[in-house]
Amino acid sequence: MSLQQLKIPKRKDVINEFKARGGKIAAVLPIHYPRALFRAFSILPIELWGPPKIDNSFSGSHLQAYVCSIVHNALSFLKIGGLDEVDFILVPHTCDSLQGLGSLLVDFVTTTKKVLTLYLPRDKGEPGYEFLGHEILRIYTILSQITGLHPDDALLFDAIHIEEQADKALAELYFKRKKLGLGNMDFYRLIRTREFLPAEHFIKLSQSVLSVSAAKSFNGLPVVLSGIIPEPMELLDELSRMGISVAADDLACCGRRLYQPGVSMNPFRRLSENLFSAAPDPTRGDSLESRIQYLKSLVYKSKAKGVIFYDVKFCEPELFDLPDLKKALKGQGIPSLTLEVDINDPISSQMLTRIETFLEVIR
Ligand code: SF4
Repeated sequence: MSLQQLKIPKRKDVINEFKARGGKIAAVLPIHYPRALFRAFSILPIELWGPPKIDNSFSGSHLQAYVCSIVHNALSFLKIGGLDEVDFILVPHTCDSLQGLGSLLVDFVTTTKKVLTLYLPRDKGEPGYEFLGHEILRIYTILSQITGLHPDDALLFDAIHIEEQADKALAELYFKRKKLGLGNMDFYRLIRTREFLPAEHFIKLSQSVLSVSAAKSFNGLPVVLSGIIPEPMELLDELSRMGISVAADDLACCGRRLYQPGVSMNPFRRLSENLFSAAPDPTRGDSLESRIQYLKSLVYKSKAKGVIFYDVKFCEPELFDLPDLKKALKGQGIPSLTLEVDINDPISSQMLTRIETFLEVIR
């Protein structure tokens, strides 16, 4: 099956349709946030990973040149009117660059949008759960004041349950990815619809894909892709063209957000458990050792021949861990390649040559 047959809706159409039904829209910056909380207020989160390939010169007067292109693009996008149809902007405190953007939007950049921030704890212990639960409750209170709505526990749990089902559908797509018969590009286009589709639409789309047996599977040389985001997405077609299959990923927008359902009957605690349940992530303060073990397990389970670190330039959380991750993998005989990108740039011929050389090493 190809995704063309499935007709993935455009973000703009999804936004218009949601608004036409009386809902509101929140533009959400990377990476972790409580989707279900927004749903309980009839707010659709639309994630903003840039977007890539825009004129990002409008952010230069506010941000240093060494801030990553995701943050530059987000601010430029706001300034050129790309967020005109949204009602809220949520900036999680994912990294220093996003914390800086959050402060800019609250204090210095004029916008008619209500800007919300979310502080993520860097500790998975009990204080971390408690802190995050309070942060989510703080956002609940702000949304209540603005919208006049006060979703009770029953409504919050309705939203939590459907988002947990969507997480489960996403996990199933990952689990059965080899059998889906999708190439690199189609698989990631599919799972990235979780960034903007309402949960029930995502579940339906996933079920349509899962219900069809693939005529043939895509059998390239398996690698693990690690980093923040597979942009520009042409990379995925280039990998396919070279006969490389992304067999597993440790990408912040994708595989690092395979959340598990929580267990608590307190909705705020439950959402906090959910956000802590995903794969190790440097932006949530997970240890280097946990990341090494996780990457190794991805390589062994997927039978990958190596790891491609595909990092956004100036992304400090990724770049801090990188030397030790590579060293640990090398110690286990797992080759790796590091590529750095600006999400506005096309895939360079130099980058393609480096991937081809890596291919010779792992073949
Ligand atoms: S790419 Fe890195 S530095 Fe940029 S927003 Fe994401 S986590 Fe922060």
